[in-house]
Amino acid sequence: MKQVVATGKPVVSDLITGVLSGKPTIILAYPVRDPADRVVGAVGIGLNLARLQTLFSSIPLPEGSVVTLTDAQSRVLARSREAERYIGTVVQSTPSPIRDVPATQTLAGVDGIRRFFGNAIVDRGPWLLSVGIPTSVAAARIAPLWRRNLAISLSAIAAIMIVSLWFAHLLSGGLGRLRSSVRQIADGDLSPPSKSKVPNLELAQLQDGFITMAANLREAHQALDHQIEQERRMRETLQSLQRQVVRQERLAAVGVLVSGVAHELNNPLQAILGTVELLERDNGLRPEVREEIAFIKTQSGRAREIIRNLSRFSSQQTGPPALVDLRDVVAEVVQLRQRDLDASSIVLEVDVSALRKVYANFTEVEQVTLNFVINAQQSIEATGRNRGRILIKLFDVGKKVRLEVHDDGPGVTPEDEPKLFQPFFTTKPVGKGTGLGLSVSYGIIESYGGSIGHRGNDWGGATFFFELPIIDPASVPPAPSSSGTSTDDPAPVLQRSISPRI
Ligand code: ADP
Repeated sequence: MKQVVATGKPVVSDLITGVLSGKPTIILAYPVRDPADRVVGAVGIGLNLARLQTLFSSIPLPEGSVVTLTDAQSRVLARSREAERYIGTVVQSTPSPIRDVPATQTLAGVDGIRRFFGNAIVDRGPWLLSVGIPTSVAAARIAPLWRRNLAISLSAIAAIMIVSLWFAHLLSGGLGRLRSSVRQIADGDLSPPSKSKVPNLELAQLQDGFITMAANLREAHQALDHQIEQERRMRETLQSLQRQVVRQERLAAVGVLVSGVAHELNNPLQAILGTVELLERDNGLRPEVREEIAFIKTQSGRAREIIRNLSRFSSQQTGPPALVDLRDVVAEVVQLRQRDLDASSIVLEVDVSALRKVYANFTEVEQVTLNFVINAQQSIEATGRNRGRILIKLFDVGKKVRLEVHDDGPGVTPEDEPKLFQPFFTTKPVGKGTGLGLSVSYGIIESYGGSIGHRGNDWGGATFFFELPIIDPASVPPAPSSSGTSTDDPAPVLQRSISPRI
C-alpha cells in the first residue's frame, strides 16, 4: 500500500496468505486521488486464489489436464489440480521474462508430467495462464484425427492415381493408334490413316499433323511412281527408236545391195526369156524339148517375179500417189482372199470405222494389206488345226488412219521379232516364203511417211499394222508422170535410183 501511495501506480502484491481466509491470496492495490489528482490513499483488493482454483477446476478438460496461473517470478499462483501442493512453487522451465514464453510448448510441469501447453499472458500481473493437456491424452485425442486425415489423404492419393491411370490409359490408347498408323506407313501402306478419338488437344493436333504427313507422303509416292513410269516409257521409246535406226541402216545397206543384184540379174534374165520365146516359135521341136523350154520359161518367170519384188523393195516410188480410201482397199483384199480363207475354215471379220482418206498408191497399200492377210492365213494353216480367225480393223487415230490385221495363229517368237522386216527373213519352207513381203511392205509404208509394226495380241497370235498420215491434198505436190513407171514392168528397176529411206 505504501508503494502505491509513494508511486501513485497500481501494484500487484506477491503471493501471500490471506489474513482472514488463511488461503493463498494476492492483493491488487490501486491509488485513490483527490479532485486535484493528488494521491490521498490506496485501496487493496484481496484475490482469493482458492476461488480461482475452483474456477479452473470447473473447466471441462481431458483427464490429467491442468490450468495454471503463474506470476512474473514463475511462482504458481493457482492450479486446477493439487493446488495446495504446488502453489508458491517456482516453475523452473518457464523462461524469464514470462513475456518470452511461446504460445505453445511441450514440457514437463512441476508435477513432472509431460504436457502440451497453451500459454496466454495476463497483462495486469503480468501473469502466465497455461492450459496443459498430457501429451499422452493429446496423442490419444489426435490419433483418430490423424487416422481420419490419413484416410482422407490416402483416399485423395488413390483418387488422383485412378484419374492419372485413366488419363494415362486414354493417352496410351491414342498414342497406340498413332503408333500403329506409323508402323502401317513404315510397312509401305500409304492409305489414309483413320481419324480416331483422342483424349486431348495436343494429341488431336498430332494426329491431324500425322494424317497430313501421310497424305503428303502418298502424293509424293504417287508422283514418284508416275515419274518412274514416264521414265520407263521414255526408255522403251528410246530403245525402240534405237532399234529402228539400226534396222533402217541395215535395210538401207541391204537395199543398195539388192538393187545392184536386181539390176545385174534383170538383163540376162530378159535375154533368157527372149531367147526362150524365140525357141518356142520353132514348130519342129520335139515334145520333150518343148517341155524343157516351158520349164525354163516358168522358172525364169519366177525369177522375174522375185526381181520385181526386189525392185519394189529398193525403189522409191512404184506408182503415182493419189487419195486412197482404205475401206476400198480392205474391201478388195476381202474379195480376193475370201474364197481361199473359206477353204481353210478361217473366219475373216472386218471392223471398219475410218472416215478419212490417205494419200498413197492404191496398189501398193493393197499389196501390204494382202501380205498381212496371206501371212496371217499361212501362220494359222501352219498350226494344222484347220480353223482360225482373222480380223481386219480400220480406224482413225489422230491425223492418221490405222489398219490392223489380227490372227489367232501361233504369233511371233521374241527371237524372230527384231528380224521380221529384214529382207529375206523367213521361217517358211523353201518355195513358200521369200522373206521379202514384210520388208517390201516396210519400204512402201515408210515412203508415204507412215509407220509399220507388229505386236502380240490377246488371242495369242500376231497383229500386224500400219498407219498412214491423212494429208491435205492441197499441200501434196502434183503427181509425177506415170510413163515408164508401171509396177508390172521390171525394166524401170534398172533406171531407178536407190533411196536410203528403207
Ligand atoms: P514370207 O512370208 O515370204 O516368209 P514375210 O516378209 O512376209 O516373208 O514374212 C517374214 C516372216 O515373218 C515370216 O516367214 C514369218 O516367220 C513371220 N510372219 C509374218 N507374218 C506372220 C504372222 N501373221 N504370224 C506369224 N509369223 C509371221
